[in-house]
Parts: sequence; structure tokens; C-alpha cells
Amino acid sequence: MAAAYNPFENAKAQFDSVAGLLELDEGTKALLREPMKEMHFTIPVKMDNGSTQIFKAFRIVHNDARGPGKGGIRFHPHETADTVRALSMWMTWKCAVVDIPLGGGKGGVICDPHNLSQTEQERLCRGYVRRLHSLLGPNQDVPAPDVMTNGQHMLWMLDEYETITGGHYPGMITGKPVGMGGSLGRTEATGYGVIYTLKELLAQMGLTPADTTASMQGFGNVGEYAARKYVELGGKIIAVSCWHQGDKTSYTFRKAEGCNIPELASFKDAFGSINKEKAQAAGYEILPGDQWISQDVDILIPAALENQITPETMAKVNPSVKILCEAANGPTTPDSDALIKERGITLLPDFLCNAGGVTCSYFEQVQCNMNYFWDKEEVLEKLEYAMTKAFRAVYALAKEKNLYMRDAAYVIAINRVAEAVKLRGWV
Ligand code: GLU
Repeated sequence: MAAAYNPFENAKAQFDSVAGLLELDEGTKALLREPMKEMHFTIPVKMDNGSTQIFKAFRIVHNDARGPGKGGIRFHPHETADTVRALSMWMTWKCAVVDIPLGGGKGGVICDPHNLSQTEQERLCRGYVRRLHSLLGPNQDVPAPDVMTNGQHMLWMLDEYETITGGHYPGMITGKPVGMGGSLGRTEATGYGVIYTLKELLAQMGLTPADTTASMQGFGNVGEYAARKYVELGGKIIAVSCWHQGDKTSYTFRKAEGCNIPELASFKDAFGSINKEKAQAAGYEILPGDQWISQDVDILIPAALENQITPETMAKVNPSVKILCEAANGPTTPDSDALIKERGITLLPDFLCNAGGVTCSYFEQVQCNMNYFWDKEEVLEKLEYAMTKAFRAVYALAKEKNLYMRDAAYVIAINRVAEAVKLRGWV
């Protein structure tokens, strides 16, 4: 199902529809439709069994007019150049909509970390930087964690970079472990940011999280912390779906009275897969993976991969759903937007809703530059302020011009980037 959609085509279709509204000149449109810089390379890794395996990897900077390239590195067996292109483009809009001085980039390695030992993963991370180091740096392009990468991977990458360059450059990568140049709150930031924006949207509708229920797809870092914050604010998560590596399929874990998120989190492995036996023993119903979307809830939170909300899956969405809260990057295909509008579902668009991670990455860089680290409360307070401010600007524009919220977010982001490329004299 997902394979039929190409994320880069989706990202360009979204851009084109708003570029039309903005009457951008042809040069700006052509520039912003494509990544500025792409690196495709291979990483030879000595495996634990003595063999050598060659991994294909990418780093793509979509636009750096507003600041250094910024965005995660994904480890995924189905990674493609076009997926990384799309994700780098979405990073440009994400940094612009929250108004942080960073551009858009993304990286990826075609691999399945489920099948790699820690030492093989370390060599893969170091190999990635060895190939790419001249294009990375705090003032050039700054990676971060993403799907199936974490703080340990970032630290190996930083260590390799510093070994090659012979200095300390903690701002060269973000999402590092706390105490090693990382920021308190960074682990929670993307998920919490999702709920800060959701809370604001609910307030506009005269509701609080406690008045609502939700169903979620994905229980990795973003899903887990979004769920924790939402439940902390009184919301009820009825179902969570996630991948099961052993069975090569996903399952939906359901509890009608509301999932106990810390308990479910204690059942998951490093990749966000929930242990079926433990969940069953704790009273969870185990349903087929796609059933997360048909639950009788107010809010759907896709927090996994791209292309999950399609016309086909939209048909399964329960009439009770009022809000689609896009915690993942690119979860919705462009041909589903019309259906979302038709059904009167309010959309919280991905690059606004999930911008908390990169916003906290920016705070991490700022703290690294000062070599002075803030308390967690201070980080989260600044994060909530930034997310709320960005949400309010998008919401106000959507109301004023009667725009779909995705389009309003695009208008703000594209305008900022278009202004930057013009001021620089690129167009
Ligand atoms: N990977 C995250 C995202 O997609 C965070 C990127 C960053 O912190 O640079 O937004």
C-alpha cells in the first residue's frame, strides 16, 4: 500500500499547491522544489563475523538559506533517496514555521538495525561520518536522531567527527546523551511538542485533553512521549499500534478504559515494539495492526512512518474522529487531504505539530555554544512557548484566510524561506 506513494512526489505536490496561492516567481519555485545538495554514498562495515557489508547511505540538504542544514538520520531497510529528499524538504518548512535559524536536511542509511549488533552499528555510524565529514559541522549541516537512531548513535558520530577534525564541536550534531552535550528534555521534546500544539487546538475548540480520547500508531520515541504527556493532561489513549519484528507485522494494543502508558512503555524494546505476552497478561486486547485507525475516538495520532493515511485507510476512520494530529513526518498522502476536509476533521499538520524535536535541537546547539546547560523546566518552558507561538500564528492565518491548516503552515514557512533566498540574492 505505502509503496504506491512516493514521499518526494507528495512533498512537491503539497509545495506546488501552496506556491500557486503565493504567486511565487518561477525562479523561487524552481529553487524550493528541489534539494540544493545531495550526497549518495556507500559505507563498508566490517561485520562481527569477519565479513564486510556495504550499506547505501544518503545525506540531503534541501535548503540552507535560513541557517545550516538540520535534520535527522534514519536507519531503515526501506529507505530511498526520494524519501530522504521529501524529509529534507519538510525539515526546511519545519524549521521555518517555528522560526528557528536553521535550514532543512535529512540523512538515511538502508539497513535494519534489528539485525546489527551494537559494535556493527557503531562502525556504521563512524563510517557515515568518515564519508561525510567535510559536509557536516555546526555551521554547515547538523544531524540528529530519527527513525531507529538514538543518542548513542549521535555520540559515536560526534566522536568520529571530532577525531577527524581534532577539536570539540558539540554543536555538530544534536540529540546527544545528557551530560555529553545533550539537552535535558530533548528525548521528550518531539512528543511533548505534539501535545503542546494539540492542547492549544483543543483550547480553540473549547476543550481540554481530559475531554477527549485518542488512538495512536507507533510507539517509538515520539509516540511514547506524546502519549505520556497527553495522558498526564487527562486524555485517554484507547489504542496503540506498533510493529512486531518477530511476526513481521503490526498489532494494535487496546484497553477501552485507557492504556497505562508508563506500563506499556515498560513492555517495549529499543525499537518501540510492545511485548505481546506482557501486554496480554496486563489485560490488553491484541488486534490486527490497522485497527488503530478504526477506533471510536476523538483524535487519531499517526506517530510512525509516512503514507499511512491514504484514501483506503481513510475509509476505515471512525465517524467519531474530530482531529488528525500528525506526529509522524508525512503520514498523510495528498489525495487524502480532500477527504479530511470533506469529513470536517481538523488537521494538525506534521511539520508544525512535530517541530518540538528540532526546536529542542536548536536549544541544544545554543546551550553547546554557551557551554552552559539549562534545567529541564527551562528547556520545556521555552519549548512550549515556541510551539504555542507557532501554532497560534498558523491557526490565526487559517481562520483569517479560511485555509486548511496544512496550507496555512505552508504559507508561513514558504514565505519565510522565499524571503531568505531573495534577501541572499539567490533569485
Ligand atoms: N528527526 C527529527 C525530525 O524529524 C528531529 C530533527 C532534528 O532535531 O534535527 O524533526
